[in-house]
Amino acid sequence: MIHSKGYAAQSAETDLAPWDFERRDVGLHDVLIDIAYCGVCHTDVHLTRNEWFPGLFPMVPGHEIVGIVSQVGNHVTKFKTGDRAAVGVMVDSCRACEDCKNGQEQFCAVSPVVTYNNLDHYNMPAYGGYANNIVLNEDFAHHVSEKLDFAAVAPLLCAGITTYSPLRRWKVGEGHKLAVVGLGGLGHMAVKFGVAFGAEVTVLSTSPGKEEAAKKLGAHHFVVTKDEEQMKSTLRSFHFIVDTVAANHDLNPYLALLKTNGVYINVGMPAEPWQLSSFTLATGNKVVSGSGAGGLPETQEMLDFCAEHNIVSDIELINIKDIHTAFDRMLKGDVLYRFVIDMATL
Ligand code: NAP
Ligand code: ZN
Repeated sequence: MIHSKGYAAQSAETDLAPWDFERRDVGLHDVLIDIAYCGVCHTDVHLTRNEWFPGLFPMVPGHEIVGIVSQVGNHVTKFKTGDRAAVGVMVDSCRACEDCKNGQEQFCAVSPVVTYNNLDHYNMPAYGGYANNIVLNEDFAHHVSEKLDFAAVAPLLCAGITTYSPLRRWKVGEGHKLAVVGLGGLGHMAVKFGVAFGAEVTVLSTSPGKEEAAKKLGAHHFVVTKDEEQMKSTLRSFHFIVDTVAANHDLNPYLALLKTNGVYINVGMPAEPWQLSSFTLATGNKVVSGSGAGGLPETQEMLDFCAEHNIVSDIELINIKDIHTAFDRMLKGDVLYRFVIDMATL
């Protein structure tokens, strides 16, 4: 077994604390990655606090992982030691079902393994990236260009792909007015990709203080959603809206901002279900759609796109000891825009 150290929640009621544990040995098709940085996703808060469902504890969160390959199995062809590598929200799947064959392994119906908070194919708990290392099948690790700031790449593995994927699916680009609801980790990546794809981007935010920062990201307009007049001025004006909000909220005021035939793309995961009126949806032929992370081929495509266009996340690098403060500040919307743990501080 491989010795690992990290930060774990021992239960949904306890704070994360240092914890030593074991990972499986490096198999024929596995790589061992020494983790350099791991992003802090709002999902880490939802899951360690049982906000969605009872979790598997002890839980080592983290699914925005970058590091250096330090060991490869005998049959590994994709990586060699010393390579940069990245891991996102999943570490295994069946490879044989319709979704896996279509490159949407994140929806594997047979034996999906997400990066943490479930059992893997060896019947061992999967532990995430708030740790010094990770072992996984090479197919689920991605290449990272040497050109990009390594720490700022980490959030691309969840916040990046989760917003890149639906914008590509709906072919958002030139001539489109795109709104992004919530300027957090996912939201700021939606702004960057929307701008890169040529859309006119508006940020819909509850935080008036984020206007200047939003414009620096490339957003063309900024609307404070608590201001009724500002909301009124954008009624029926967007082709697409991407909702990245983590907290329970009413969708109906945002749906009113779509043009006829407009598409509402939800990627946020508040715990409470929505209440939608059939009249709201029928009027203007509205589409409400969801999107979950992204498959393996598209994740590599996104990383390559980012290397070509010099896109990374805007990050605040933290000591792992400050993870509680990071969780608290994220809950207050007080982060520009993603905390990333420097694993050297472990
Ligand atoms: P985050 O960094 O905390 O950003 C969420 C943003 O939502 C906040 O910065 C804030 O932006 C806004 N917000 C907060 N409370 C709000 C409220 N009551 N009403 C309206 N807006 C509010 O979180 P994140 O890491 O981007 O994650 C966002 C959500 O996506 C989480 O639920 C996460 O679990 C989910 N997620 C989904 C997927 C997927 O596959 N679909 C993948 C990753 C994460 P403003 O200050 O600008 O209002
Ligand atoms: Zn995430």
